[in-house]
Amino acid sequence: ARRDASEEGNKQGKAIPRGVVVLDGDGEPCRSCTSFRDWAAMTRKKIASPQSNEPPSTAATTTATSLPPDCPPDAEALGRSTWTLLHTIAATYPTAAPPEKQAEMKTFMNIFSRIYPCWVCAEDFQRWMERPENKLVPGQEGGHLGGRFSFGQWMCGAHNEVNRKLGKSEFDCRRYEERWRTGWAG
Ligand code: FAD
Repeated sequence: ARRDASEEGNKQGKAIPRGVVVLDGDGEPCRSCTSFRDWAAMTRKKIASPQSNEPPSTAATTTATSLPPDCPPDAEALGRSTWTLLHTIAATYPTAAPPEKQAEMKTFMNIFSRIYPCWVCAEDFQRWMERPENKLVPGQEGGHLGGRFSFGQWMCGAHNEVNRKLGKSEFDCRRYEERWRTGWAG
């Protein structure tokens, strides 16, 4: 799931720290493209919380292996929060969406796919959205934007594409409503 972005970094004349494989637009290591484990291993930084009351010498200056709650999100925390937002949007989409809602959603998803801060994730997502079978076309009979059910299934398929890429098990999209709208049925 990681890509070697050293070329971009070199173009900008930045030194690339060992272990960094994804850089951001400024040629700096991209936090939101990297898991915290990789990030911590790469920087070998002592992580201290500024909210801790203890003096720095004895405070929680541990080499963290999981993301502390008050740190910027890594690729995983960002992904989890983002999927929560996207699936909740899909689960509360109108059962039959009027044309203007459909157009709005297409615009939102197109912009989202371009501004998602993990740019390597965003590029793959854009490619998935461009496949003919995944295209969002407002007003299309039986299209993905027609209503809550079809849009939820589209979103579920999008997430499963990432799950497959990361070697995770696929989610059963028949249970989408339960997971994201009604809660589990008994
Ligand atoms: P997540 O995958 O975040 O899932 C959260 C919850 O959603 C799960 O607990 C489950 O209950 C539910 N769920 C799982 N699958 C589905 C589904 N198909 N439909 C509905 N609900 C589901 N990370 C990378 O390392 N590389 C990438 O290229 C990458 N691309 C991403 C692209 C996008 C658009 C987004 C939003 C995230 C991307 N991520 C990527 C992050 C990645 O998908 C995960 O969010 C992250 O790895 C954390 O995974 P997790 O196992 O905690 O659960």
